[in-house]
Amino acid sequence: AKKDGRNTYRYHTAALSIAANERLRVENRLRHALAAEELVLHYQPLIDARTRCVVGVEALVRWQPLGEAIVSPGKFIPVAEETGLIVPLGEWVLRTACKQARAWIDAGLPRLVMAVNLSVRQFQSENLIGMVQRILEETQLPANCLELELTESMFMEQVERSIKTLNKLKALGVNLAIDDFGTGYSSLIYLKRFPIDKLKIDQSFVRDLADDPNDREIAATIIAMARGLKLNVLAEGIESEQQLDFLRQHDCDYYQGYLFHRPVPADELETWLRKNST
Ligand code: C2E
Ligand code: CA
Ligand code: CA
Ligand code: CA
Repeated sequence: AKKDGRNTYRYHTAALSIAANERLRVENRLRHALAAEELVLHYQPLIDARTRCVVGVEALVRWQPLGEAIVSPGKFIPVAEETGLIVPLGEWVLRTACKQARAWIDAGLPRLVMAVNLSVRQFQSENLIGMVQRILEETQLPANCLELELTESMFMEQVERSIKTLNKLKALGVNLAIDDFGTGYSSLIYLKRFPIDKLKIDQSFVRDLADDPNDREIAATIIAMARGLKLNVLAEGIESEQQLDFLRQHDCDYYQGYLFHRPVPADELETWLRKNST
């Protein structure tokens, strides 16, 4: 269907209006979820390849409607993004994650980096810098304990503006990672100009590492390039020892995946961290 304004109704077939109704229904329920505190964050460890220690966690949002099964973000983040609800939702995620990171510091746990996903709309919002700054002040979380995960698609439209935004975020002292690296419309030239700290190799390249020579080549190339550009590199979606062996041989800096730990609620992670730290 065409996007431009008033022509859209022409394409408004029965099938589309069902889709629109469904979206509206999800939107309303999501609005309610935010108010009713039905959203929770789960946290998944990020592992330092050399020490095998947990050095950070990624915050991943979950929706848990009262008395119903958990809804995965793949289902509702796109709706939130389309409707603009992602802006208050994303702010809630950032605040909750930073509060949690602060609480873990106060509880005497080893310092962790808290990685938080940003959406396209959030990245393009005028208020992004102010919001991040305010939340860091509010929660008293040191800026270097926060890492923002961005995707290549955010930079496509307005390169110069993106660079400015990234520089302002860096000036606050936060870390910047490119998520799902290799899946977007990346132009490698941007990497040189963007003040990025880390590349996260998308899990689609990690999944078949054991038997797809092309994926092996891509993963090895991303790691080598990151090394050359003095960027850190993390591989996500690691599930098997075979995948891990390959990544270790190629000297990947950080690991993330079910092989190490699934995303879990804060209290569960805290219990695990206490048992496994020293
Ligand atoms: P992502 O940022 O690429 O997050 C990694 C996803 O991979 C998570 O799915 C995680 O649970 C999953 N994962 C981790 N290890 C493994 C593994 O070993 N194998 C497999 N198969 N999967 C693994 P999840 O939590 O369902 O999140 C899906 C996507 O939703 C995220 O992908 C991210 O794009 C988005 N998302 C999640 N939370 C937020 C949020 O707070 N804000 C925004 N804007 N997006 C979010
Ligand atoms: Ca991510
Ligand atoms: Ca990712
Ligand atoms: Ca992904």
